Amino acid sequence: MLYPQEFDVIVVGGGHAGTEAALAAARMGSKTLLLTHNIETLGQMSCNPSIGGIGKGHLVKEVDALGGAMALATDEGGIQFRILNSSKGPAVRATRAQADRILYKAAIRRMLENQPNLWLFQQAVDDLMVEGDRVVGAVTQVGIRFRSRTVVLTAGTFLDGKIHVGLNNYAAGRAGDPPAVSLSARLKELKLPQGRLKTGTPPRLDGRSIDFSKCTEQPGDGMPGGVNEGTVPVFSFMAHAYGGAAMHPKQMPCWITHTNERTHEIIRSGFDRSPMFTGKIEGVGPRYCPSVEDKINRFADKDSHQIFLEPEGLTTHEFYPNGISTSLPFDIQYDLVRSMPGLENAHILRPGYAIEYDYFDPRSLKSSFETRQIQGLFFAGQINGTTGYEEAAAQGLFAGINAALQCRGEAAWLPGRDEAYLGVLVDDLITKGVTEPYRMFTSRAEFRLQLREDNADMRLTEAGRRMGLVDDARWDAFSRKRDAVSRETERLKATWVNPRSLPAAESERVLGKSIEHEYNLFELLRRPDVSYANLMSMDDGKYASNDVSRETLGPLSEPVVEQVEIAAKYSGYIDRQKDEVERAAHFEKLRLPPDLDYMQVTALSIEARQVLSRHRPETLGHASRITGITPASISLLMVHLKKGG
Ligand code: FAD
Repeated sequence: MLYPQEFDVIVVGGGHAGTEAALAAARMGSKTLLLTHNIETLGQMSCNPSIGGIGKGHLVKEVDALGGAMALATDEGGIQFRILNSSKGPAVRATRAQADRILYKAAIRRMLENQPNLWLFQQAVDDLMVEGDRVVGAVTQVGIRFRSRTVVLTAGTFLDGKIHVGLNNYAAGRAGDPPAVSLSARLKELKLPQGRLKTGTPPRLDGRSIDFSKCTEQPGDGMPGGVNEGTVPVFSFMAHAYGGAAMHPKQMPCWITHTNERTHEIIRSGFDRSPMFTGKIEGVGPRYCPSVEDKINRFADKDSHQIFLEPEGLTTHEFYPNGISTSLPFDIQYDLVRSMPGLENAHILRPGYAIEYDYFDPRSLKSSFETRQIQGLFFAGQINGTTGYEEAAAQGLFAGINAALQCRGEAAWLPGRDEAYLGVLVDDLITKGVTEPYRMFTSRAEFRLQLREDNADMRLTEAGRRMGLVDDARWDAFSRKRDAVSRETERLKATWVNPRSLPAAESERVLGKSIEHEYNLFELLRRPDVSYANLMSMDDGKYASNDVSRETLGPLSEPVVEQVEIAAKYSGYIDRQKDEVERAAHFEKLRLPPDLDYMQVTALSIEARQVLSRHRPETLGHASRITGITPASISLLMVHLKKGG
């Protein structure tokens, strides 16, 4: 049957990429259909119930700054929040939350169901409708044909998915869900370049069988015994508008246990039945998130590894033992779990497993995430070789935006590497591709001083508003914050103190020493040991040149103070980084002719010509980051372009 309505955007898959893609396209006014296996699994966390972390938290804040769902759903479902790297510089500070997976899913589903322009439909997609070189819709398992102008494919780990537990394996998308076999075959038929990757998950434990008295408690920030007791962090820039931490449900601690020599012996005894070590698994797994057997094998000299026991929610006893992801046979899993302190009697609720799946080489995508081979077809999420909910959500939002822009006949939105982690993620994927599941780290961003979690809204919300992603409530809250930051910064710059106006005792109290000449308050705030709160404890109406005291302006919110303080303390570094960005900009954005015949650029080595012909980079910046392209090749290419070649 041909479905009677036609859509602008069809999103296939209701995971983290698909839900953000569908919400973004619908927010931008595109008539959007989200087709997914099962409405009950919308927003499901396939692995650990946690959102954020270093690099990943940055992506979540960016998704949020563009009106996305992930941060707000985490604020609604988060049962533990922590600011990682809180003692380090603001660029690497990151929010991480433990979520109640049921509450998280419920929040995502509610947002989807209440989103205007968005329709949900439960069915497996088995085929794509392609006319010439353009996608025109999707066909479901029972033959319903949905027509659309664009399709965003976000099939996660489901394409030809195969689960391994020891030497046993079976076809699945993840535990309890069917694989997408027909769709995978169809994509192969369309000759989209693909490969195999793998990821894994630990066995889950029944908390009633854990002896927590033998484990170390790890409270979240703001919890009794935790950092900043009484102040639980929030994720979304909009959380303050909804009551801040009052949005969170009850907060829960995590627990820590550890492996020991006995655990390691048990693990080693299963190596001969490990699908990884016996060659049953061909897909490559993430090196930085290894299975426990991989850790024991690679770091044989370590006699213990920390294992975090993370609650899966408030209405379940289930615990996620973070650090023992494994595909060893179940009998080995059973023994290894029980060899650890506190887990001697632990009951396993679900076995750990590894999953192998198809991914598509992201170097075959345009910088908008549209496939080069098939117009109107976009890929986002794990299908592009990444891992992680946050990486998926960011890509989904990006692909949803660009599908909607294409429907409007507008140019793609392409944030630069200096504007967003999203820009870094997209650029890394399309220029370098992946050799293992890709995850975000702050070290991937060369301009990370300006890509902070705290200023994601300052970097992106205006662009989001222009594209129609940001609603009035978010825009009002953002505009108030932006204006307050700029007013306060100007006020500090215009407020002067000098040795005559500021008594030595007051100067000692506030600044730790007396001042030798005239300063404005912004300059004083640049000093490492002077905080904004210190400065404000000085009655600037009495001692300073300017009689506009803070009191007459009303109190500032914490996020505003944070921006003012960071702008002052890091202004030197930030300005230097801005100069670097400007210097790189011309080179970065120089577009390469789409029909450039690299094989004719004889000054380049044969290898460079072949690599460039294969990748067809869109800009000189892209070309410079392709593996195998040296700075010398870039100079030669520039000379060629200048000569009008
Ligand atoms: P998914 O979340 O997988 O969602 C895909 C969605 O598409 C599902 O709703 C599915 O039902 C639907 N779908 C698929 N095919 C079709 C079809 N043909 N028709 C209709 N609907 C379809 N990440 C980490 O960061 N750390 C980890 O340790 C980690 N471990 C993992 C372990 C396992 C076992 C698995 C499965 C995943 C793990 N991940 C881990 C990865 C993380 O779950 C994914 O990166 C993230 O969920 C990807 O989001 P996505 O939206 O791309 O895909």
